[in-house]
Amino acid sequence: PEPILQIKGLRTVFRVRAREIAAVNGIDLAVHPGETVALVGESGSGKSVTSLSVMRLLARKIGSIDAGSIRFRGKDGKVKDLVALSEEEMRHIRGNDIGMVFQEPMTSLNPVYTVGDQISESLRVHRGIGKRDALEAAVGLLEKVGIPDARRRARQYPHEMSGGMRQRVTIAMALACDPTLLIADEPTTALDVTIQAQILDLMQKLQRERSMGMLFVTHNLGVVAEIAHRVVVMYAGRIVETGAVAEVFRDPRHPYTMGLLKSMPRLGTATAMKRSGEKLPAIPGMVPSLAEMPAGCAFAPRCPFAIDACRTAVPELAAVNEGHGSRCIRWQEISA
Ligand code: ATP
Ligand code: MG
Repeated sequence: PEPILQIKGLRTVFRVRAREIAAVNGIDLAVHPGETVALVGESGSGKSVTSLSVMRLLARKIGSIDAGSIRFRGKDGKVKDLVALSEEEMRHIRGNDIGMVFQEPMTSLNPVYTVGDQISESLRVHRGIGKRDALEAAVGLLEKVGIPDARRRARQYPHEMSGGMRQRVTIAMALACDPTLLIADEPTTALDVTIQAQILDLMQKLQRERSMGMLFVTHNLGVVAEIAHRVVVMYAGRIVETGAVAEVFRDPRHPYTMGLLKSMPRLGTATAMKRSGEKLPAIPGMVPSLAEMPAGCAFAPRCPFAIDACRTAVPELAAVNEGHGSRCIRWQEISA
């Protein structure tokens, strides 16, 4: 099937003190209907900038898309390059064709409106549904995301709810208009482990029912194992490895992916999620500053396999297997 989202050569730059730095540097990725693609990598690797680029939510004065295309297929079946759309066209797509869920629910919720009003507002704006019907639909959506006593809850304000309940509300809001793509940036990171697992289950269930595409940003490989079909590993603004989750976890071919996997003791368990939240002794060294990138492979300074050739040119993404790529010149020699 045709992808819902196809990103090619995306480059997003920030202007910092008269200098341009590339926070995202030549990203290619695709999301198909019913597929979950996880973006992983340490803090600062460019995960959020990638998702903000797709939604065209970069603060215009400091950050902008510099190259590439973001082809997106909306509910009408038409494919558009989001990079070329006007702000007005994007406003229609956001919330309507693309749903968004962020780490902190209060960034998406307005404290002065009831949650019922906020969910129904989206339906009224994008779908032209009348007030009473929209409110009724909002109650239905709250039930759908597993909020008990939904009719009473719809009359509450966000601060009257727990963090987990609030995140359920933002999911209901994101899904209100039946988007074809859901972008979730660390949606469970702020929640405790039990609630986190419940929210992941819910998102997975809703995604399957609607065969939505999902772009899921996380730094947690336990979460990736749990929910994603494909994984895109980012380092310093570039994809270093990508492939089907099962294959990449079984046979990683980039030292950075190997390091991430090693820092995570047991896959897919609540313990693993909790542990990675506790900052395990991870890969030694630090992510380089984008303003002072080393020549060649950005991971070389931290890499146990690095040789001189790694420090001369940025490696190409080599084809390990069908759909599995690694940006390591030694991918054939190394294995976990
Ligand atoms: P985290 O796991 O911490 O959320 P991330 O992978 O989402 O990390 P991004 O937020 O995408 O990282 O940031 C990528 C890089 O872009 C970082 O080096 C960051 O300093 C830079 N960056 C992000 N936003 C801005 C901004 N508004 N101005 C300048 N640089 C920025
Ligand atoms: Mg982020």
